[in-house]
Amino acid sequence: MDHFLYRSGTLHAEDVALADIARTVGTPFYCYSTATLTRHYQLFTEALSPMPHLVCFAIKSLSNVAVLKTLGNLGAGMDVVSGGEYLRAKAAGVPGERIVFSGVGKTRDEMRLVLEGGIRQFNVESEPEMRAISEVASAMGVVAPITIRVNPDVDARTHEKIATGKKENKFGIPIARASEVYAEAARLPGIEVVGIDVHIGSQLTELEPFEQAYLKVADLTRRLRSEGHDIRRLDLGGGLGIPYQRSNEAPPLPVEYGALIKRTVGDLGCEIEIEPGRLISGNSGVLVSGVIYVKNGEGRDFLILDAAMNDLVRPSMYGAWHDIVPVEEPAPAAEKQEYDVVGPVCETGDTFAKARPLPKLAEGDLVAFRSAGAYGAVMASEYNTRPLVPEVLVNGDHYAVIRARPTFDEILARDTIPEWL
Ligand SMILES: *Cc1c(COP(=O)(O)O)cnc(C)c1O
Repeated sequence: MDHFLYRSGTLHAEDVALADIARTVGTPFYCYSTATLTRHYQLFTEALSPMPHLVCFAIKSLSNVAVLKTLGNLGAGMDVVSGGEYLRAKAAGVPGERIVFSGVGKTRDEMRLVLEGGIRQFNVESEPEMRAISEVASAMGVVAPITIRVNPDVDARTHEKIATGKKENKFGIPIARASEVYAEAARLPGIEVVGIDVHIGSQLTELEPFEQAYLKVADLTRRLRSEGHDIRRLDLGGGLGIPYQRSNEAPPLPVEYGALIKRTVGDLGCEIEIEPGRLISGNSGVLVSGVIYVKNGEGRDFLILDAAMNDLVRPSMYGAWHDIVPVEEPAPAAEKQEYDVVGPVCETGDTFAKARPLPKLAEGDLVAFRSAGAYGAVMASEYNTRPLVPEVLVNGDHYAVIRARPTFDEILARDTIPEWL
């Protein structure tokens, strides 16, 4: 459920008409709904109650500081994968004790940064990284709390680019070697083991892969405890999928996911952490774009939009589907026509949808890409020197621009000409 609905014949974000925002901000722009972000976060905390838990929003899915502050004010933790994301979480007022640090390539500079600012735990991905954290922390005279990410070798049955829990993926240590690695961790002076971490992939549309992974984590918890380790926290990752194509997808709900967690690891007395990104941010955002031209090609009609692959790359990068809807509500019986929906960027990859049935559209009409809140704005670029797409946050009947569109002067001022030119 989200808060993007037609009212009086025009698509609203909560109580604000998207067409009104388009008039002041211009298109394209991303628009996020506070009520939807809040609701999705709360669905997870409710699903995990009464177990002790922390829902750590995966910042990489949507990293605007205003969004982070919205969630942080509700008590959310944050899952960061870089020093930059850590600074975003801090800028949003989230304390270090609610921030977990994931990612396979943490640098020593990043380790120092988060140890200085405070961190709940490092989710360690390899032995060399574990040794580096121990060295950095020891040199600073502190002890770093860590979990070790284990790779459970389960098939998440999702897009290959976002599956992370198979043994051939670059993530975590093989679960079969966990005893050995935890034994080394216990000997290192600068780290303290607090738990186990697992994350098997993104956009999972079934619960079985989670179940397989979490049962393995439960077994491992018992084994590591019997080997003398204090396993008190389980970070179970993110990855629950959302319905991108609302007409025919129904992925599991957070409440079902929560019940699965209780069933698989609930009796271990551990504090549970999860790291959902997409399920909180995905349906909380739309990308609004205007039709520049309707071009009648040979055997097909093109809808040429002012949004392009640089603003929303998921269709061209993952072949992803986004529902596209007109901002002005079509009559119920309006005839549909098939369009290839494309952007202005100079490559054929700049295609959002092929032969998509849509009500008849004309120059100047607005459309909205649904479920665009996650992995949308964060992956945007200025390819073709198209200004970085702005972001707007709606809250009830008011809205604010939370990242402005840069001017061309600002864009050009970032390039510097060396003295020899
Ligand atoms: C990407 C990622 C997440 C979030 O995944 P979603 O599919 O957006 O929920 C959580 N944890 C880690 C370690 C990740 O890499």
